[in-house]
Amino acid sequence: MFSPAPRNADLHSHSTVSDGTLPPAALAQRAQANGVDLWALTDHDELGGLDEAHRAAAALGLRFVPGVEISVSFAAQTVHIVALGIDPQHAQLRAGLQQIRSGRDQRARDMAHDLEQHLGLRGVYEGALRYAGNPALLSRTHFARFLVENGVCRQTHEVFSRFLTPGKPGYVEHTWATLDEAVAWIAAAGGIAVLAHPGRYRYTEAEEWALLERFRQLGGQGIEVVTGSHTAAQARKYAAIALQLGLYASRGSDFHSPGESVCDLGRLPPLPVDLVPVWDLLH
Ligand code: AMP
Ligand code: MN
Ligand code: MN
Ligand code: MN
Repeated sequence: MFSPAPRNADLHSHSTVSDGTLPPAALAQRAQANGVDLWALTDHDELGGLDEAHRAAAALGLRFVPGVEISVSFAAQTVHIVALGIDPQHAQLRAGLQQIRSGRDQRARDMAHDLEQHLGLRGVYEGALRYAGNPALLSRTHFARFLVENGVCRQTHEVFSRFLTPGKPGYVEHTWATLDEAVAWIAAAGGIAVLAHPGRYRYTEAEEWALLERFRQLGGQGIEVVTGSHTAAQARKYAAIALQLGLYASRGSDFHSPGESVCDLGRLPPLPVDLVPVWDLLH
């Protein structure tokens, strides 16, 4: 007997509509070229790339899942919730995301001001904005690219170790949506809520359990296990947690850019075989 090859699903990626560097159609092509057979575009707080992604995927015969990665504040940190299989036209989801986006511009101006103070640079806001494919979605990634362009750092990941993170220059406290709101919008829009890259948060064990418990209570169903953001040890840890809590497991590169992302579209280890994949819920 032989078992079927594991599915090459990639359910987390970013286009120029948020902080990626490829337009949605180019991502679709790259996903297919890399052997992806189920692909989700999950731009930050923004649905504007889904039409183009859907059309490009359809033309390629690539199965597409409409998604979005929602910024949430929980226990004084930022958490990301990936929504999969949402209706991009759903009014409540659209209004919620619009509200999140509306806070980004002032945050970006405050970040720019703080960086200018620390670095003696000028025009940081305008400089970051030049990197943003969507001015409504200015993110820390665009500032990171601007700092690399200006020789402050050599690579974007170096920027995040010296700037833009809690306690470092350019970091600005911000309140995003609540976890309750994000999960409710996703459910209302017919989607599945997936806790993104749980290994990236800096919670104590008690806080992490509070997040997982609350997420499940609210109806959150999925957790990223295999992601470009996890080490092998983190993937094992969250695989065990998925089993323990009965969560569906997700797999996604979190691909942003050919020059920056360590993990390319679809180039991830398979999900551990004892997990129930989240794509069982996507039809
Ligand atoms: P924002 O939504 O503006 O807070 O920006 C968050 C984005 O910054 C993430 O989605 C990543 O693309 C990027 N980012 C955050 N931390 C890091 C890091 N340590 N290395 C590289 N990129 C990061
Ligand atoms: Mn990003
Ligand atoms: Mn994220
Ligand atoms: Mn992401």
